[in-house]
Amino acid sequence: MSVTTTSTAAISAAAAADDALRTPTDVATLADRLGRLADQAGRIGADAILIAPGADMRYFVGHSVGSHERFSCLAVTPDGRARLLVPLLERPGWAGTPVERLDLQISTWKDGEDPYSALTALLPAGVTGLAVDDYLPAMHAIGMRDALPGSRLALVGAAIGELRMRKDAAEVAALAAVGAAIDRVQRRIGEWLRPGRTEHEVAADITEALVQEGHSGADFVIVGSGPNGASPHHEASDRVIQQGDPVVIDIGGPSPAGYFSDCTRTYSVGAPADPEFGRVYEIVRTAQAAGVAAAVAGATCASADAAARTVIERAGYGEYFVTRTGHGIGLEVHEHPYLVAGNEQPLEPGMTFSVEPGIYLPGRFGVRIEDIVVVDEAGAPRLLNNCPTELTIVGDGTE
Ligand code: ZN
Ligand code: ZN
Ligand code: ZN
Repeated sequence: MSVTTTSTAAISAAAAADDALRTPTDVATLADRLGRLADQAGRIGADAILIAPGADMRYFVGHSVGSHERFSCLAVTPDGRARLLVPLLERPGWAGTPVERLDLQISTWKDGEDPYSALTALLPAGVTGLAVDDYLPAMHAIGMRDALPGSRLALVGAAIGELRMRKDAAEVAALAAVGAAIDRVQRRIGEWLRPGRTEHEVAADITEALVQEGHSGADFVIVGSGPNGASPHHEASDRVIQQGDPVVIDIGGPSPAGYFSDCTRTYSVGAPADPEFGRVYEIVRTAQAAGVAAAVAGATCASADAAARTVIERAGYGEYFVTRTGHGIGLEVHEHPYLVAGNEQPLEPGMTFSVEPGIYLPGRFGVRIEDIVVVDEAGAPRLLNNCPTELTIVGDGTE
């Protein structure tokens, strides 16, 4: 048996050595992205694009903050000009960030003032078409609409997705680095997953290991043992893990640079108790490999979904594969493109997404296997997770 981890989450040597976990986006790249965002404003007929704190803001200016209820906004117009409005009390937090090296005006508003008229004053006269970030709080979107008589709101998420879903080489390197970090955690699962422990206890150890292996924190730690594995987004509970349980472990979080990992393996604690488990496991494994193989440049998102789904349907478990096959990943754990029926978006070099089919048998168990894939420069799928997909049996006293 392995030693228990200490409470201070020391960074592992592998994590410390991997610069791509930490490298910030260079200012020239940010400036290029802002230019392309302004082009998108022209293309979709928006007079201004309004972006809230979050992954979009981080993508375009290299930094973001949590503003709670106060209004912070990046506004970009088709002429290529960008301005950032932030609450005065948060202005010090932007000091030294890439924003100060971009050709961008930073303005502030203070408590007691109307932030919507403050932003309106920064926009050209006559702005009426507002394209807002999918995650701009509704109160701010409506506040801006009301501050600009005659204005209309539209969503800009799809137009931003057009930019964010094609990763450059530095972004692919960042995702590969954080993929290797989560692989190191998956390879250590046998240290923690044993009969007699609760899902919460196992999840606490995994959370610590995510940081040790180079994440800035855990975003989600799913430990779905026995029947809990049949709920795809079950997190962790006080259920005590039993000998013979299948356990779905789906874990991920951001690197210090902001790029996410997301990897699932399904383990068996000792020899599987359910006689159907081995067969179901191999069907999911075959389906996952088929989904990865189908993720070539020129194929559609829908066809990659179908490639994985067909394997499960032909084996007679179609009704138990209750999710899409995958989601894009980058500065958010779920982003465009989505591998889902009906999405005719063609895959292109630089797109990064999960392939994660599963079979969920209510009241019994679930099996999911998930890897992140990038379509490489040659148009072929390349795995960014490389821990084995063969069934790993843990906690049987042999470790
Ligand atoms: Zn999910
Ligand atoms: Zn996942
Ligand atoms: Zn996922």
